[in-house]
Amino acid sequence: MTAIDYDLEFLEDGRTIELISIGMVCDDGREYYAVNRDMPVRKIRKHEWLMENVVPSLPKGAGDRRNHVPRSWLFDYTDPVVKRRERIADDVMGFIRGAGPDVELWANYGAYDHVGLAQLWGRMIDLPEGVPMFTCDIQQERLRLGLASDDLPQQESGEHNALADARHNHVVRRWLARQNWRGAS
Ligand SMILES: [Mg+2]
Repeated sequence: MTAIDYDLEFLEDGRTIELISIGMVCDDGREYYAVNRDMPVRKIRKHEWLMENVVPSLPKGAGDRRNHVPRSWLFDYTDPVVKRRERIADDVMGFIRGAGPDVELWANYGAYDHVGLAQLWGRMIDLPEGVPMFTCDIQQERLRLGLASDDLPQQESGEHNALADARHNHVVRRWLARQNWRGAS
């Protein structure tokens, strides 16, 4: 089995989940990070929490004049991690398939992340071959082991940057796997 830990930042309004950025870390050492250039910029600007917590970690987020990014830009559209949603869908499919046929997806409180990921390809029925139909949840594994949230390794920096969050999920999942092993021995 090969696991992929991932995290999405998204705009969610109770009806839709719109991708802002995605970070993925595979057991085989590969990593992926992309920012969706098709994100709904106007809606995001009106969303105080996203503007405070997520937008600053986007490439030159929120119009940094020192970096010659116009203030009218929410992020730097010319940065190579900024890609069309269709391109991200292709990249993510390649990344997951690259882990082989026996792949697991993992996320933290991952229900929304899974839907956001699956919707890269459209409807539930459109999910490509080789992409798992569900995401394992760090919180479910924590619960199964009888641990409290505070028992888990804490994230030191980069919270709400999708790649930093995915890397942290990777650390936590592997830590949980060691607790499991200790419990069984
Ligand atoms: Mg996150």
